Amino acid sequence: MNILFMGPPGAGKGTQAERIVDEFRVPHISTGDAFRLAMSQGTPLGVQAKSFVDQGLLVPDEITNGIVRERLEKSDCDNGFLLDGFPRTIAQAEALDDMLASMGKRIDHVINLKVDRDLLLGRLTGRRICKSCGSTYHVLFNPPKVEGVCDKCSGELYQRSDDTEEKVGTRLDEYNNKTAPLLEYYGNKDLLREVDGQQDIDEVTAGISSLLRGQA
Ligand code: ADP
Ligand code: ADP
Ligand code: ZN
Repeated sequence: MNILFMGPPGAGKGTQAERIVDEFRVPHISTGDAFRLAMSQGTPLGVQAKSFVDQGLLVPDEITNGIVRERLEKSDCDNGFLLDGFPRTIAQAEALDDMLASMGKRIDHVINLKVDRDLLLGRLTGRRICKSCGSTYHVLFNPPKVEGVCDKCSGELYQRSDDTEEKVGTRLDEYNNKTAPLLEYYGNKDLLREVDGQQDIDEVTAGISSLLRGQA
């Protein structure tokens, strides 16, 4: 099953992806995670991406498309994948259609997590991530059992440098200008399904899961 998660920054894509990949046994492909890993390792990709990510701007399409193409060609994607945070522009969506067509694949489901803009700032500024395993927490809405420590691996939690009030404004503008038009793109292909992302985390997971199982 080939799945895309859409939704503004803070909608819950990463949180839900962690759970859905466990249930559906497909790899989780997050372009944001890929950029952060490359940046922390100081690779050429990381150096190229850093100035954009730090400003809250989208990384140019050619760079982003290249890392997705490489990733989708790996054999663990043979039985499906979950793309989280890609595509984010119409040009990326068109490039993805071409990549998949050349591999004889297509997208099966596009899930849009709907969350009102006024909730997103609080979600993003309270977000904490595990340095070791990448699990996502929230200081109020999904706190770890011990403050600052990952429940799953005891890793140290940190705050992303782009999860500040100042950067969030730019990121939401980028979303509205460049990514929101994709909803119409996938709506026109009759692939788009909406899930209310303002419910409890477990309820959102149940909603996505039943859509993917064709029970909703
Ligand atoms: P969020 O989880 O808040 O939506 P991500 O972790 O997906 O954020 O992305 C973090 C940053 O990485 C983005 O602000 C952008 O700079 C870059 N990025 C991630 N995915 C893409 C993409 N598909 N196209 C361009 N830039 C991207
Ligand atoms: P995205 O990947 O779409 O940017 P995340 O999954 O990282 O979003 O979630 C953003 C923040 O909101 C995280 O701190 C997460 O713990 C929290 N969060 C996610 N889903 C919910 C929810 N349904 N209710 C409340 N908080 C949530
Ligand atoms: Zn961890």
